[in-house]
Amino acid sequence: MIRNVVEEHVHAAYESLRARFPEFCGCDVCRDDALVYTLNRVPARYVSSRQGSVLTEVSLEKDQSRAAIEVAMMDGLRKISQAPRCGSRSSGRAP
Ligand SMILES: [Zn+2]
Repeated sequence: MIRNVVEEHVHAAYESLRARFPEFCGCDVCRDDALVYTLNRVPARYVSSRQGSVLTEVSLEKDQSRAAIEVAMMDGLRKISQAPRCGSRSSGRAP
């Protein structure tokens, strides 16, 4: 089984960063958009999970990779909150 470890870090970045964007909608559509936006902008990092112990060794040890993910995620959260595809503008803001 092949997995992209970056995906886990992108999910973690989403959970930790979305609180900084109170205007971000956070519905399933917007959440997926944020994850896809970020995943498309950082290089994938695939591992084989045939040996379970390999996974922990190949976590993103480089701060640089983590920073790149967070920068891309913040960029995505900002863009998507400005123009959510779900059309949600229900937070009481003027257009
Ligand atoms: Zn939404």
